[in-house]
Amino acid sequence: MTFKALLVEKDEEGKTRAGVQEIGEDLLPEGGVTVAVEYSTVNYKDGLCIGPGGGLVRNYPHVPGIDLAGTVETSDDERYRPGDKVVLTGWRVGEAHWGGYAQKARVRADWLVPLPDGLDTRAAMAVGTAGFTAMLAVMALEDHGIKDGPVLVTGAAGGVGSVATAILTALGHEVAAVTGRPETEDYLRGLGASRIVAREELAETVKRPLEAEIWGGSVDAVGGAMLARVLGQMKYGASVAAVGLAGGAGLPATVIPFLLRGVNLLGIDSVMQPFDNRVRAWQRIASDLPMDKLEAMIRPATLADLPGLGRDILKGQVQGRVVVDVNA
Ligand code: NDP
Repeated sequence: MTFKALLVEKDEEGKTRAGVQEIGEDLLPEGGVTVAVEYSTVNYKDGLCIGPGGGLVRNYPHVPGIDLAGTVETSDDERYRPGDKVVLTGWRVGEAHWGGYAQKARVRADWLVPLPDGLDTRAAMAVGTAGFTAMLAVMALEDHGIKDGPVLVTGAAGGVGSVATAILTALGHEVAAVTGRPETEDYLRGLGASRIVAREELAETVKRPLEAEIWGGSVDAVGGAMLARVLGQMKYGASVAAVGLAGGAGLPATVIPFLLRGVNLLGIDSVMQPFDNRVRAWQRIASDLPMDKLEAMIRPATLADLPGLGRDILKGQVQGRVVVDVNA
């Protein structure tokens, strides 16, 4: 039996090349649960793994795709039966293990989550790793208390930012969306953002460690100088859920916002979340994320589109969520 996959191979000079190939099922690892994949998505890490790997890929040839949704075909674990609909994010799938850019994946039962009522496999992947992470970020802000005032979402036109904007506005929060792409304003307002903040407004490095208190909470997908600046604008006791580093891994900040304003910096990791949290987050997604807004974020794609899309996401040029139909 063969199936279609985006295979990344490395030549003797260490150069990688990604292309769609028909490969044998015997190449899949033994044991575990075989999933007939229906959809996957394009995340920042996928961009890295489609290319030279950026230190994430353990072995070549490699099938990237850090998330997937599909139907169980065979299972060595009594929790899953053929026909069950499942979703998978994290656990280094698509990095250390073959991932979702294929019509079949074989994974450990522990990594799967049963699809909650209200989400089909396409909607689950429109959410994907980015949206799952956005939900974890919102839950972390809620746990620490969202203060009065707008919630700031950075990298708003990207995957995490789009879903965070839609969830927060659906929950009744006023959202200010930071974007470096003015042309996405209508899109972001359609997701519910009531205020658009130009990236340049927050791009200057910190001159004063504390500025006027503006934000009641923040989901930050950008990191770097922008995060440092945002910390000094948080309301007393408010929290920033730090998700990503699209704008840099450094943090040129001072401790003053933590000491004098009791600001909380909450790190969000979607990769190693325990099963119960995963189930809770997916159920919250099914109940709190309006499907019409999710639909507005989707850009459809096929396996053949992935090499180009991988390059685009690394340049910050992808809007919303790319949903890859692996059978198209
Ligand atoms: P996207 O590329 O879809 O979105 C990132 C957005 O950040 C871009 O759309 C752009 O938004 C903005 N951006 C890009 N480059 C810069 C820059 N140099 N300066 C300021 N803003 C910039 O990625 P995702 O939303 O999927 O992921 C966002 C980040 O979160 C990534 O770093 C990713 O690795 C990380 N991540 C972390 C997870 C975790 O578990 N912690 C899980 C998933 C993702 P705009 O055009 O609106 O300005």
